[in-house]
Amino acid sequence: MENMIIVGTGPAGLTAAIYLARAGYSPLVLEGPQPGGQLTTTTEVENYPGFPGGILGSELMSNMREQAQRFGARFQTGWVKSVDLSKRPFKLTLENDSEIIAQSMIISTGASAKYMGIPGERDNVGRGVSTCATCDGFFFRGKKIIVVGGGDSAMEEAVFLTRFASEVTLVHRREELRASKIMQDRARANDKIKWSLNVKPLEVAAGEQGLKGLNVLNNTTGEEELLEADGVFVAIGHTPNTGFLGGQVTTDEQGYILVNPGTTLTNIPGVFACGDVQDRQYRQAITAAGSGCMAALDCERYLEEESVHPSEQHTEGVV
Ligand code: NAP
Repeated sequence: MENMIIVGTGPAGLTAAIYLARAGYSPLVLEGPQPGGQLTTTTEVENYPGFPGGILGSELMSNMREQAQRFGARFQTGWVKSVDLSKRPFKLTLENDSEIIAQSMIISTGASAKYMGIPGERDNVGRGVSTCATCDGFFFRGKKIIVVGGGDSAMEEAVFLTRFASEVTLVHRREELRASKIMQDRARANDKIKWSLNVKPLEVAAGEQGLKGLNVLNNTTGEEELLEADGVFVAIGHTPNTGFLGGQVTTDEQGYILVNPGTTLTNIPGVFACGDVQDRQYRQAITAAGSGCMAALDCERYLEEESVHPSEQHTEGVV
């Protein structure tokens, strides 16, 4: 029996682990297929407080992991297939059919940026292709950028990127944008934004010198063309990683977990959510870490109320 299980090892999960470990618990932390989360896909992180010279995303995450381990957090690799939250203790079934029984659970499984799935896209992540303007826009000062997408995210990222780029081209597969009027108007009012609508992205073109741009099919003329750019920002949405919950935790229509405002409490007592899995708005490492701290404190309070104390930890909980 575990006192708590933390599912996911981005900044939210690892911060929760640090706090709970320092509180004397020995949290079990489940690491999925992308240990460290989305930050490990970026290069330099320049906006995480405390690192005036910046820090590599992967280094920041391995530091957080080391910090959690130092205080007694335990790590296990695993992918949760399903959960039974109908009664306490909760039961998690992993992909290899092993089970974990826990008194409480912190969900910090994050959200995954959607990719177009075209050639050259994944290979060039961190080398000109990005899914996060706030993280990587700064590296494109004075350069040409393409933003792909027709929703609010694409409008917001395009406008934000005009702070750095010499020119931003917004590429969308249809003539009509999905974005709200106010966001469209804001983007349309920006002289630095050029529009390439009704074109289908085919391939991210790159050479030895870096990115060349985006090959697209012009749906109107039927011709292929290369839209030149130094950076391609894919802003076609995110998917919160909540599928494994099987609908037992209340989410919004897009799958983001709903928490009581100002807390990390979900609809199930003893289940807490932090980081991008419950945040469609900010999605920053520092806000994820902050909510991870909140989840740890909420979880601790819950266990105290349930009279579960750190000394009752049974480390043989993995069966
Ligand atoms: P979204 O509204 O789902 O829009 C995704 C866009 O990407 C759509 O235009 C879609 O094209 C396009 N797209 C999807 N798959 C594609 C593919 N494989 N190749 C090329 N294009 C593709 O996602 P979002 O913009 O991230 O917004 C998500 C939610 O967050 C929305 O509710 C939005 O209002 C909200 N949001 C709000 C703000 C704000 O208010 N400040 C900022 C960001 C997001 P189609 O239109 O053809 O389907």
